Amino acid sequence: VISVAEARARILSAFSPLPPEMLGLSQAMGRVLARPLLAARTQPPWPVAAMDGWAVRAVDVGGARRTDPVALRRIGEAAAGRAFDGTVGPGEAVRIFTGAPVPDGADCVVMQEDCTASGDEVRVGGAGGPGRHVRPAGVDFAEGRELLAPGRLLSARDIMLAAAADRPWLAVHRRPRIAILSTGDELVAPGEAAGPSQIVNSNAFGVAGLVTALGGEAVDLGIALDTPASLAERAAGARGCDLLVTIGGASDGDHDLVKAVLGRLGVSLDFYKIAMRPGKPLMFGRGVGAHGGGGVPLLGLPGNPVSAMVCAVLFLQPLLRVLQGLPADHGPPPVARLAVAVKGGDARQDHLRATLERQADGTWLATPFAIQDSAIISLLARADALIVRPPHCPPAAAGDAVEIIPFPGPFPGGMART
Ligand code: AMP
Ligand code: MG
Repeated sequence: VISVAEARARILSAFSPLPPEMLGLSQAMGRVLARPLLAARTQPPWPVAAMDGWAVRAVDVGGARRTDPVALRRIGEAAAGRAFDGTVGPGEAVRIFTGAPVPDGADCVVMQEDCTASGDEVRVGGAGGPGRHVRPAGVDFAEGRELLAPGRLLSARDIMLAAAADRPWLAVHRRPRIAILSTGDELVAPGEAAGPSQIVNSNAFGVAGLVTALGGEAVDLGIALDTPASLAERAAGARGCDLLVTIGGASDGDHDLVKAVLGRLGVSLDFYKIAMRPGKPLMFGRGVGAHGGGGVPLLGLPGNPVSAMVCAVLFLQPLLRVLQGLPADHGPPPVARLAVAVKGGDARQDHLRATLERQADGTWLATPFAIQDSAIISLLARADALIVRPPHCPPAAAGDAVEIIPFPGPFPGGMART
């Protein structure tokens, strides 16, 4: 029997980030940058007006006041996309609009509210110091600067930055392709006619949803019957994927064939009994379909729906992050305060399904369900997070801080409820 942490570490050690692919900016959101993003240009490329007004020489208007304006001669106009090509000399001014290049010779912009113009004369009634209302060239970034580092989960703002830096394509890690194989004579797909002792396959859809929410691509291999031939045939569909996730058939029962059959298919299996609840033995191995090397790694989840999802959150989630070039964890584990007392732990780490509620002070209040039966899918769906109760932990009182694992929301990076 090993701990959750050890099982996790052993599984994760077998994976490294997938190779990069190039994607256009509009496809790259939510993907993880694989190479540094370097600016292809300087922004702004030249000093730029930050206000509508008049581009002047600061020395000419140093003493200007509303009551004592300085008269200058208008020599032209500069607008965004239309620079003024000449040079501003002593006593001269250029009408300028926000975003326009500040003409040579000028070193400040006086706001239009402080000026009055008639004909070719402009009376400047506000002082302007050097650089006033001018954004210097490169104040945002200079060509060649590293703007984003590898490992960055690309946000909308990052995409905006890459566009401004004139990088139309980004090197991002490929999405992990995760094959999902359900096992069991009792299973039918949702919507199909169920026989007298059959139930609906729910786990495959839950695990696929999690894979999608975490940035992977789910490949549904359907349902294998509890026969070696069916299992082998279905498992062959995992070829080309980055991981085969099996669901069920992982125990030592007469009908639990995953271990034996996939072992014969070349998988070298680690069969973990993990000190956790919910969750039965978890399987991990390498080399599905290997013929003398390579092959697809295998993660064998328990069949019980809540166990399958909890194990997927604990083990598949960090694995998907690692494959995409992210650290296994978001950061330090989040904490919540208990709404009710919970009892102390035994040898197995417990993962209590709980709802979260945001308190007035911004902290989270976690309420575990009174029923923690690991077959209750409706409560799993209602839960926002798991409360982690480490092995042999002492009883906890209402108000105590506990570590939580929020369920991922439908979108990458999102929590179930915020
Ligand atoms: P097993 O590990 O195959 O013995 O499955 C344990 C329990 O989980 C049994 O009650 C199965 O019917 C159930 N189960 C297994 N796979 C699934 C699935 N894909 N969807 C829903 N229930 C399942
Ligand atoms: Mg089964």
